[in-house]
This record gives sequence, structure tokens and C-alpha cells, in this order.
Amino acid sequence: MKNPIPIKEAWQHCPHCGTSSETRGKHPFDCDECGYAHYFSPCTAVAALIVDALGKILFIVRGKDPGKGKLGLPGGFVDAEESAEEALQREVMEELHLVTGSLQYLASFPNQYAFRGVIIPVTDLFFTVEVQNFDAITAQPEEVDGWTFLPVESVAADSLAFETHQRALQEYRQRRQEVNRSTGNE
Ligand SMILES: [Zn+2]
Repeated sequence: MKNPIPIKEAWQHCPHCGTSSETRGKHPFDCDECGYAHYFSPCTAVAALIVDALGKILFIVRGKDPGKGKLGLPGGFVDAEESAEEALQREVMEELHLVTGSLQYLASFPNQYAFRGVIIPVTDLFFTVEVQNFDAITAQPEEVDGWTFLPVESVAADSLAFETHQRALQEYRQRRQEVNRSTGNE
């Protein structure tokens, strides 16, 4: 299979008038024929840091590429007409069959997602998410190969499918250290 290419290079025709593009690879795409412009703005994805009673974080084992077999935080793309919070609740239910409680925004990082030969830009939004009861945990067939709870300190960067998830874990660890320092629990 060919190496994936950025979406702005894969874009070969104006989607409005069908003219083949002389402006391939440009951002924004700007059609000389009909004036349509396209900005290749990022899609939005969400991911959950779910912490159990022992302070371990819940990871899925990815069942599909990109990153099949690697670890990831539960989550996925936000659908049209859906809030980031709703997307997160839906994805955690779909992937692990867990009901989520309160959500708290943590951080965002730019990511890239290679899918079927094309790379799209993505904004990953990370939330810490409460789950009261893990009894129902079940992996979504085909999408998720399993799950594991790991202490945040013991997650090797190369075991994760996405570098942004590593950055979110670092952010979480830093925040937790700040809280511990301010409450004298270190
Ligand atoms: Zn056009």
C-alpha cells in the first residue's frame, strides 16, 4: 500500500463544480472556476482519562489501524451536531460499555490521523472522566481488543498509538503533582 498523503494533496477536484484542481496541495484550496474555497480545518476527536479507585488509568488495546494492538485512551471522533461531551459519553459506551459520570476538560493537542491512504489533521480534546462502576466493562467487537488499567507513571511512550495521548498523560501527571504539592500529600 502506498504511503498516506495529506488530504490537501489528495484533493484533485473541486467538490462544488468538479473542475480538476490546479491548486493541489495549497491551503486553502481555492477554485479558479467557481470560487469555492476549502480550508482543510481539523476534525475534532475526544479522549477520556478514566481513573479507577487505585489511581490507575484505563486504556484500550486498539483493534484496528491506525495503531492496531497499541494502547490508547478511549474516545473517537465527534459527529456533526454532537457536543464533545456527548461524543465522549457515546464513545466510552460503545468501546467499553461503561456509563460515564462527570467530565472535566484537561487539554488539547494537534494530531494527524492516517486513514485509507489519506492523512487528516485532527484536534484531540482530552477530558478526565468519572466512572462509578466498572462491572459492565466489555470490549467493543473488532474495534477494541481488550483493556488494561495502568499507573500513569508506567506507560511507555512507544506502547501508545498516538503521541498526543502521551502528552495528555504528561499534562495529567503534572496537574496531579501540583495538586499534591498544594495539599502537602507529596
Ligand atoms: Zn469549483
